[in-house]
Amino acid sequence: LDGILSGKKLARSVRRRVAARVDSLQGPPPGLAVVMVGEDEASQVYVSYKEKACRKAGIRSTVVRMPRETSRDELLARIGELNGDDSVDGLLVQLPLPDHLSASEVASAVLPEKDVDGFHPQNVGRLWRGEEGLFPCTPTGIMALLEDYGIDPEGMRAVIVGRSDIVGKPLAAMLLAANATVTLAHSRTRDLPGLTSRADLLVSAVGVPGIIGADHVARGAVVVDVGISRTDSGLAGDVDFEAVRPLASAVTPVPGGVGPLTIAFLLSNTLKAREMRTGSGL
Ligand code: NAP
Repeated sequence: LDGILSGKKLARSVRRRVAARVDSLQGPPPGLAVVMVGEDEASQVYVSYKEKACRKAGIRSTVVRMPRETSRDELLARIGELNGDDSVDGLLVQLPLPDHLSASEVASAVLPEKDVDGFHPQNVGRLWRGEEGLFPCTPTGIMALLEDYGIDPEGMRAVIVGRSDIVGKPLAAMLLAANATVTLAHSRTRDLPGLTSRADLLVSAVGVPGIIGADHVARGAVVVDVGISRTDSGLAGDVDFEAVRPLASAVTPVPGGVGPLTIAFLLSNTLKAREMRTGSGL
């Protein structure tokens, strides 16, 4: 441990493992369908990364672009078609959606067996119950990163700042299952530094550059920065890296920390969905 937790090497090895397994599959290659409604700029970038990563891993990706004005019924009908399309193993609807569409309704419409984002209530329930299922990619990546560096959450005081369905909540379930003592903090939390500075493991998923500074971090803590914000000087995480690094025993950089793992585990989830559906081992 040189104090930096990099996700790059692990992401590469996950992607290689997926590609090798895809290569050895019988039948057509696994397929990922991404539905994108509207033209959110950041979403376009993320979706193009996903397509490229799929291509490299031998996964067939399809991007279904729908106009901003798409109605609820049109979107649900399209999801229904993709649910029934046998060439689609993994299906996700890129967020954020335009305001007139409900992300939670959409999450429930995706077939749980194809739900590679892990947002369907059935997968959420399976995660909390410790059952097999498809689970969100970013927290899966964080758990894999900790394991890769030999950091065992058992018995740790873990504080997660941010309670989204994509990161904070599912990560809480995963850390709890790994026997950490978990606290979720959010915008209404009183005295955030007082809380976070008692954490052995601090994860920030807020999206406010520099919100985690030296006074938020205990000496020797492991700090995981999930935040990605675009600033004038480029991409920025939630953590004031220079201030926190000398205090922390380990910290993830932005970019190059958690980020690369998200797409790697999307590929891995697509393969898992295929294998679960066809019963070809797990
Ligand atoms: P989100 O849905 O916007 O949630 C942000 C969370 O931060 C909310 O729970 C919010 O509290 C909390 N929060 C906001 N201001 C706060 C404050 N001043 N103090 C404490 N908590 C505060 O965000 P998300 O989708 O989870 O994403 C969070 C960040 O991670 C973003 O920068 C996003 O770009 C990044 N991200 C990165 C990856 C990756 O692959 N590395 C993946 C997903 C997301 P309330 O619930 O009270 O509003």
